[in-house]
Amino acid sequence: MTDHLKKYLLEDRTVRVQAVRLHDTWRAAQVNHQYPPAITKLLGELVAAATLLAANLKFEGALVLQMQGDGPIALLVVECRADLSLRATVKLREEYVVPDTGSLQSLVNPGGKGRFIVVLDPQSRHTGQQAYQGIVPIEGDTVADVLEHYMKASEQLDTRMWLSADGDHAAGMLVQRLPDNGGSAARAGISEEEAVEAAAETWRRTVHLASTIKREELLELDTDTLMHRLFWEETLVAFDPQTVQWHCPCTRERVAEMLRMLGRDEVEDILEEQGKVDVACDFCGKPYHFDAVDCAELFIDKPSLSSQNPPTMH
Ligand SMILES: [Zn+2]
Repeated sequence: MTDHLKKYLLEDRTVRVQAVRLHDTWRAAQVNHQYPPAITKLLGELVAAATLLAANLKFEGALVLQMQGDGPIALLVVECRADLSLRATVKLREEYVVPDTGSLQSLVNPGGKGRFIVVLDPQSRHTGQQAYQGIVPIEGDTVADVLEHYMKASEQLDTRMWLSADGDHAAGMLVQRLPDNGGSAARAGISEEEAVEAAAETWRRTVHLASTIKREELLELDTDTLMHRLFWEETLVAFDPQTVQWHCPCTRERVAEMLRMLGRDEVEDILEEQGKVDVACDFCGKPYHFDAVDCAELFIDKPSLSSQNPPTMH
């Protein structure tokens, strides 16, 4: 069964609705990780959120959502590309025990220093597109709260999200008000003022209908059933479903680059201790093995800065 994201517009085209329910993709994210239930829930919700937002990227590249925490969770990260292939991982602090039902704030932000970071990373920088990074505090009790705050503050878009996840499914729904440049007035043959009022009413009605969703419904119902249950009185314009899948673009070369950044001294220390350097990808767990010869090759023609003598004056 393939995972799909589905997009709809309300009939007057002033509000967008998107829904996603991931199974295979989400199971793949957990293959090499044993997350406690509270972490599974948070990461799954962030995965669903990233998928919903990446579906509206206007460039070939990736959306990265990161929560940097100051408690049990050091980092939650999801990277979703415009083609809706994604990868995700969590870094926990070993000195903490994660409670089964920890809240977002207690897991990520107990000291109030947690940060939510959004990166928009275009694939081809040479076309003049720069990576964009937005950083906001972690506000609210749920992943959806944090995302809604971010969207309002950074994108000036009224956005509501409903997110839910367990070990089997990561699911979400997004309702977003679209900027109206007079199109809906022209289509309906009404004045601008009437169109503004009509669009506001469409927004209120859509949010009201969407808000009747229950957490279990998001997890258990397939998207078509869910949409019918919530919006059966509305006329929705449906778009072609988009496939969502797990994909980790890690390569040996990227891992080698990471080892070079770690520095020659550090790599040699590991070699001395273990006779080899074994690294696993943080996202997919794929093992990368570097023996003594591989490690020496890492630094050929790339002298480590730390091993050079500092410039002196005589
Ligand atoms: Zn990987």
